[in-house]
Amino acid sequence: MKIRSIKGFHDILPEDIGRWHHIEEHAKRSCELYGYSEIRIPVLEFTEVFARSIGAATDIVEKEMYTFADRDGSSLTLRPEGTAGVVRSYVENSMYTKSPQIKLYYTGMMFRHERPQKGRYRGFYQIGAEIFGSEAPESDAELIAMISGFFDGIGLSKSVTLELSSLGDGECRPAYKTMLMDYFIGHKDELCEDCQRRLDTNPLRILDCKQKGCIEISKNAPKMLDNLCDDCTQHFTRVKESLDSIGIPYEINPKIVRGLDYYTRTVFEFTTDQLGAQNAVAAGGRYDGLVKELGGPETPAVGFAMGIERIVLLHKEVIPEGFEKKTDIYIAYLGEEARDAAFKLAYEIRSSGARVEADYGGKSLKSQMKRADKSGARYTVIIGEEELKSGIVKLRDMEESSEHEVGMEELKKLASELKS
Ligand code: ATP
Ligand code: MG
Repeated sequence: MKIRSIKGFHDILPEDIGRWHHIEEHAKRSCELYGYSEIRIPVLEFTEVFARSIGAATDIVEKEMYTFADRDGSSLTLRPEGTAGVVRSYVENSMYTKSPQIKLYYTGMMFRHERPQKGRYRGFYQIGAEIFGSEAPESDAELIAMISGFFDGIGLSKSVTLELSSLGDGECRPAYKTMLMDYFIGHKDELCEDCQRRLDTNPLRILDCKQKGCIEISKNAPKMLDNLCDDCTQHFTRVKESLDSIGIPYEINPKIVRGLDYYTRTVFEFTTDQLGAQNAVAAGGRYDGLVKELGGPETPAVGFAMGIERIVLLHKEVIPEGFEKKTDIYIAYLGEEARDAAFKLAYEIRSSGARVEADYGGKSLKSQMKRADKSGARYTVIIGEEELKSGIVKLRDMEESSEHEVGMEELKKLASELKS
């Protein structure tokens, strides 16, 4: 049997890594600009961490988790998302005693047993951030502003739309749920099988169903936004006003439900129409009940996560070229004696900070020049017998196809200027 990767899991290859680094570095910088510290949490947690937070009647917990028994029989799960683990860590490390407000971001691989397609994988990367300890609507707006600034910074601001809604809280949501249930019971026969089941377990999920029939019935369902209590209305209004005050555009989409049960009040998605069915590139919201649910003190919180693969796909559509990692200087040599010199020279120039490549394979100068060209090197240094003696080498400018001679000092100076 030929060995291969697992369905839904993929490699990120060298030709794409420059773009990945570009996007990830921008995301980290955005988080740090807004005062978030990185947290690294395990990929594996007790299943309970996810089951208790994401919600038993969600797609993730019902059918998407990679769950298995550890050797001692305890049930473990590969993280399907980051928030649950971050909250577990926040509680376990009593972070609430350290500061009234804690801001954390994370990045890493998530695992969901979904049907793989473009922009949807079983193993995928997310970057996410959480603010603990603030109930203020400005915190929701600040988090959104950070994400918006990130998309702007990588040239995608025109490709994404911010959609916003509120899911209410413990005060107004239960009554809304009942209203929704009553409405859908009247249409039970028209709902898909999954939604008929959701009717009893989690009627909100029906609003998120992708089946045509269910979408049609959902259109006339009562809306959470029309049924918010006064506090939730006020909170939502302040979020919108805060966004208005800094000029961040948004669309109200009362149909946002989110695939996780822990959300309260503000929910949002950054969507694109350039990726087909997988249109959400980032999503998040407020989850004021989760810290307490996982054993901590009552702590309001708001957070988000974005899928890096989808952002990479979108970024490629919008800016197709220019993110390949390139060599700065390629060293070619002529003759065996020059080979030693090439080896030493590569070592010395690298210490000036430039990216240097050389091939010690004893190939002809012509084939070395071909490799130099392919490496995308800005310059090629050519060392032959003459150059060995004189200490002056030929420097070829690959962009301008011109050549001139340079001494060692000049070469090192050039290398340090190329340093990236
Ligand atoms: P979707 O509606 O597309 O299934 P979701 O609501 O399940 O998304 P979240 O759990 O909110 O997504 O995760 C946040 C982000 O992570 C999504 O907006 C998306 O960019 C990304 N994401 C989610 N699931 C996948 C997946 N299977 N493959 C790649 N990226 C994903
Ligand atoms: Mg999903």
